[in-house]
Amino acid sequence: MTLIRTNGRLGISCDACPTRYRHTAEEGAFRALLAEIVDEGWKPIRKAGDWTHLCPDCARFSDRRLL
Ligand SMILES: [Zn+2]
Repeated sequence: MTLIRTNGRLGISCDACPTRYRHTAEEGAFRALLAEIVDEGWKPIRKAGDWTHLCPDCARFSDRRLL
């Protein structure tokens, strides 16, 4: 996952393209932000202990490739 810190707020961007989630969260509200992006179709993937996040477009693409 790519975390972006701006003025004490956290943002998330896709690991496979430059898409950024349009909302940011307070530091400390990171789990809530995660729940929010998953609700909107973002896809967290755990790979070798690291988290990767894909935006809805990339998640669709990777689903197609994996199936
Ligand atoms: Zn993407």
